Parts: sequence; C-alpha cells; structure tokens
Amino acid sequence: MQAYYLHGPRDLRATEIEQPQPSPHEVLVRVRATGICGSDIHYYLHGKNGDFVPERPFVLGHESAGEIVDSGVFTDTLPVGSRVAIDPSHPCRACAHCREGNENHCSHMRYFGSAACSPPQDGAFREYVQVNAENCHLIPETMDYRQAAMLEPLSIAVHGVGQAGSIAGKRVLVTGAGPIGQLIGLVARHYGAADLAVSDIRPDALDLAALLWADQPLHADQPDTVAQAAGEGFDVVIEASGAPAALQTAYRHCKAKGTIVQLGVQGGPVELPVNLVMQKELTIRGSFRFAHVFGKALDLLARQKIDVTPLISQCVGFADLQAGFDAALQAETIKVVIDY
Ligand SMILES: [Zn+2]
Ligand SMILES: [Zn+2]
Repeated sequence: MQAYYLHGPRDLRATEIEQPQPSPHEVLVRVRATGICGSDIHYYLHGKNGDFVPERPFVLGHESAGEIVDSGVFTDTLPVGSRVAIDPSHPCRACAHCREGNENHCSHMRYFGSAACSPPQDGAFREYVQVNAENCHLIPETMDYRQAAMLEPLSIAVHGVGQAGSIAGKRVLVTGAGPIGQLIGLVARHYGAADLAVSDIRPDALDLAALLWADQPLHADQPDTVAQAAGEGFDVVIEASGAPAALQTAYRHCKAKGTIVQLGVQGGPVELPVNLVMQKELTIRGSFRFAHVFGKALDLLARQKIDVTPLISQCVGFADLQAGFDAALQAETIKVVIDY
C-alpha cells in the first residue's frame, strides 16, 4: 500500500509499504478521507510542530474516516464494510492523568500523525490503518466520509468551548477564523451564545464566519473596531489563532470576571498585560486536544445540529497529497480534505 512519509520540511515521499496487520484489540480501516490540519502544515513547513520534533520520517494525518476491511474479533460491533470516524487519540489509560479522567493530558499519549511521543506515531496519510476498535465510531449513512473527517477538529472545538463553562446567553469573542475558530463559533452558537463576535485579518474568513455563525465580524488589523465592539468587554474570549496580538486582545477586551480560553498554539513566549488578570479577576484557561467528547461531536453532526460542509474549501485525491498541502497553504482555504 501507499503511505506518505514526511522526511523534512516540504519533503513528502510516497512510499510502498506492507499493509498493516491489526493486533487483537485492533481493526483494519481503509482510509477514505483525511483532513489536513494546521499541525500537519507546521510539520510540513518546518519539519516539526512547536516543541515536537520527529526523530524519524513519519506519516502525518489525524482527521480521518474510513471503512472497516478487517474486523479482527469485533465482527459483531464493527463488521466489514462499517463506515467509521477515527478518534486519533490513544491514551495509555494507566498514568495518573488517565486515571483521573484527563486522558488528553496522558503522559504516554500516542496521537495519530504526531511527534509528541517518541518514536512518532504514524498517522492516516496511508491507504490502510490499524486502529483500536474502541477508537472507531460508526457514522450514519447520511454523513459522508469528508464530513466525518471533520469530527476530530469538531471535538477540539467542543472541548475548547466547554473550557469556558456555560456559554448560554454570553457575549463571546472568537479570535481567529481558521477551521478551529469557525468550528468553535458553530459550537458556541449551538450552545446558546447570545452574541458572537469574531476577529481575524482575513476578510474571506470573516465573511464565511458572518455567513455561518458570527454576529460581528471584526477586522483584527483595525484595533478600534474590536475595542468598539467590545464595549465593557466580552464575557468569554476564545483564542484560536495562535497570534500573539490576538492573545493580547483577549486580555484587553475580556470583561471583568470573564473567562479567556487559550486554544491557539503560540510560536513562543508572548508579552501580555498580565496585571489585567489581577485587576479584572480574569479566569485564564487552556484547552488541549480533547477527552470524552468525540461521541458528542459525532452526535452534533449526525443530528445535523452543526453543518461542517461549508468549511471544506477543497478536496484533493490521495494520489496528489502534495497538491493537497499546496492547496492548504493557499491564503483563501479553510479546510482541505484528502479523498482516497
Ligand atoms: Zn488537527
Ligand atoms: Zn495515560
């Protein structure tokens, strides 16, 4: 079968490898769709993602759906031909974090297409993957594989919004209108945010947000616009861009007693007006991956409470993965999905 290994910056190589053999707790999935994530792009451009540096060439891709081709011992629950979305997180279930129910902080996490562990965990830009049966979630006929591939980033968004506590009736600012920011907006809308603002420097991304969920699209490069919209401040600010200026905006325009959720990955240390945390008694929360919400995300999509289709800007065939990455790097794309 074909697999794409990342050997270094902008160096993806299609390689013929043996089809994997599932172990007793696994099934074999023929991958049908995988989204290209911001973290894939980081690895692709820089050969690493923040602090995560792969020690050998590895396979990217963690937003996937496919078809069961070998059920192993799970013939009853996951018969051959089942259509599934893949939860890419494989926590150890034994460390202190796992035992406390915080599997997203697992000390030995193996996440598809990630070099956070050593050796790196190969992901889904290959034709077949062996997956823990418990990581395969059946999807309804009404959901296509491309939509199902959006379940991982949707889970990230559900967890991120959850970190803000109850959001119903709140004034919310989402900084960053990339795929995660858009999904956060859709989730926040669904959970009853009263007034949703979004800031970004990309006019096309703001237009899409305004079309789908945002009450106030704000141009981040015009600080007055954000200040005016903020008034006495937003109850909740969710930072999803990874831009230092956006995190500073969050501190400035979060209301007293408000909550900031930092979800975007910053490239390094950031200078912040930290006295505002004290003066305004802000709550600062992080959001990292997700735990226990993949099923909830699947339910939101299956019941069509959220439509992710408008976020898929382009689909590219697996044989042309390189073109998929090139497309994902274009200024006007939100999400590129690879079709197999
Ligand atoms: Zn991702
Ligand atoms: Zn663990």
